[in-house]
Amino acid sequence: MNTLSRSEAWQADRDHFVHPYTDFTTFHDTGSQVISHGDAMFVTDEQGQSYLDGIAGLWCVNLGHGRTEIAQAMADQAMRLGYYNTFGHSTNVPAANLARQLAERAPGGLNHVFFTTGGSTANDTAVRLAHFYFNRMGKPSKKKILSRNNGYHGSTYFASALTGIHGIHYGFDRISQDIVHHLSAANCYRRPDGMDEAQFCDFLIDEARHRIEQLGADNIAAFIAEPVMGAGGVLVAPAGYHRRMAEVCKDNDMLYIADEVVTGFGRLGHWFASENHFGHVPDILITAKGLSSGYCPIGAAIFSEKIYEGISKPQGPGGTLSHGFTYSGHPVACAAALKSIELYEAEDVFTNVRDTGPYMQDRLQGLLRHEVVGDVRGDHLMAGIELVADREAKRNFPPDLAAAEVVFRRAREHGVIVRPVGDTIILSPPLIISREQVDTLIDGLDQAIEDVS
Ligand code: PLP
Repeated sequence: MNTLSRSEAWQADRDHFVHPYTDFTTFHDTGSQVISHGDAMFVTDEQGQSYLDGIAGLWCVNLGHGRTEIAQAMADQAMRLGYYNTFGHSTNVPAANLARQLAERAPGGLNHVFFTTGGSTANDTAVRLAHFYFNRMGKPSKKKILSRNNGYHGSTYFASALTGIHGIHYGFDRISQDIVHHLSAANCYRRPDGMDEAQFCDFLIDEARHRIEQLGADNIAAFIAEPVMGAGGVLVAPAGYHRRMAEVCKDNDMLYIADEVVTGFGRLGHWFASENHFGHVPDILITAKGLSSGYCPIGAAIFSEKIYEGISKPQGPGGTLSHGFTYSGHPVACAAALKSIELYEAEDVFTNVRDTGPYMQDRLQGLLRHEVVGDVRGDHLMAGIELVADREAKRNFPPDLAAAEVVFRRAREHGVIVRPVGDTIILSPPLIISREQVDTLIDGLDQAIEDVS
């Protein structure tokens, strides 16, 4: 009942499992590759073929696969207390402990933690918190949220409304268009001709200030941004952009929501990127993925003293923060996160990121030898390689050629897993990667691009 043979699993999957973000046509033609186990940097499929995982599952298995320490911590907790709710006045030891551990590691003053089931629900939570906060501050007109083109913030209906990747909205209705407004992506590769990076930064900041003037600061609750855009193509903003946007937010009494679902937990060499890497402290910081190293669904919105005071001051009827999930503070998920935090520290994983990250970025520059590679960009252990049909004109391939998808398939034949998103190939390996494994990953990708050039 609980196990299926390889062919039964393939068939059951094809007949019944509707996969996220999957094209029905190609899915029906080819079905799925069944991944059956993982060990450190590698995953193995049902045919026994192993691959170097260049995407950490989906930007999340930061400590690598097959970590028995995390599995054991989860099992121990499940046997002690598998679940109990945290609504109202109940709690559990791992949730309380994890909240404290996160407050200790989050940028200065972010001391309060709301647990969610993942990144999308954490972003929804951030927006609800922002609205609740301004309602209680007597500023109920502050409702709009500024987001950015190419930003990815998740797949619940509101998180998808925050998302600025246009293709993701095809076939769906756009809700909340009166609430969510998108600014330009901080896409240095495709910045207007003739602008250097510093001028592009000024341009983006001016655009934000202008849009705020148009919409009215009294109507805007928050700005949301990923420190480095992930699914939108690994876009690194010009120097100073986030710090300056944080000032724009302060000037206009808007909250800055940093979506660190990907950049948190070491991908850029620190617990969180906002403060240590980009020099500002957001009002709300969103995390998920690496929080439990992908071993259990969990996310969190970590927020400031200022917001906590605003939402928690006694106020008669309507004083309850009527928001939460059955699995907020799930003890098994929190146990997985606590063990992950312990391992990040014990193994000095972020020091490894600060060594292998720049090494990976340097080595990736070699891919520019291929005419089809238009841009190579990234920061530490996240990278994007954008493919172009015409390098001079920065013109992408026609969508039906699915160039990045073709490279992904070839790379798999060379034993490495990369991720195609539009015309960009994304790398986000587990943070335990060695320099030799970086070489293997990039050599495999280089070969794959060579094959299709
Ligand atoms: N925010 C960012 C920056 C993400 O990359 C993702 C997922 O990839 C999300 C939010 C959504 O997280 P989840 O899929 O856990 O809901």
